[in-house]
Amino acid sequence: MGVRQLFVRVRGCDLACRYCDQPQARHSEGPCRIERPPASGNFTDAANPFTAADCFAVLKELDEVSEARHHSVALTGGEPLLYPGFVAALGSYLHDAGRRLYLETAGHRPQQLAEVIHVVDWVAMDIKLPSTLPQPIPPEVFGRSLAICEQCNAMVKMVITGDVTASEVEAVCQGVRASYSNVTGTRISVPLVLQPVTPVVGGVRPAPARLMLQLQALCQQYFEDVRIIPQCHRLVGLL
Ligand code: SF4
Repeated sequence: MGVRQLFVRVRGCDLACRYCDQPQARHSEGPCRIERPPASGNFTDAANPFTAADCFAVLKELDEVSEARHHSVALTGGEPLLYPGFVAALGSYLHDAGRRLYLETAGHRPQQLAEVIHVVDWVAMDIKLPSTLPQPIPPEVFGRSLAICEQCNAMVKMVITGDVTASEVEAVCQGVRASYSNVTGTRISVPLVLQPVTPVVGGVRPAPARLMLQLQALCQQYFEDVRIIPQCHRLVGLL
């Protein structure tokens, strides 16, 4: 938290989270937009599709003119694992240049995650709770993705709205731990972040502090390290 990153957001997503704060990113159509300088709000358009080579060229340019060092390139969405070829190619470019890739994913695509994990330095993986999706994802799927994350640095995140219940969180934790332990033979050592939703979408209720504390205590039975952390980029007015 708090490190400086270059930020790439891909278009397109196969989920429809009720709290989604990037509804425009769920559609693959539309131009590629590049912000220069950072946090200026000045965007120029480029043709879409944008190749990994195009993307790397822009990242290199932004990195070279920056007054500060970047910790990594954050790749988010939408869902980056809709495009595993792009992720693998961009990761290779970055590694060849001595840079690092931080991948954000919803955690529901273990097969594609396995295809790219060799070029990923950090994974920030969501576990999507049933009450936040029109069609729930079996928790075992997240357990399998989490086991793949063992190959690099990782954290996992649950977004908590005011409609989340302790019973659904417990059921998900049980399913994730069962599947993860089957693969790794251990308890879940990957840190879990409980993120109170930033209620930017109409109809999404904020999570009360009491609920956050209750869920933290509950999740500690399944994860060794459970933290409550809000969306930091929104607190400082970025993107
Ligand atoms: S996975 Fe992310 S981009 Fe896709 S619907 Fe959910 S919050 Fe929105």
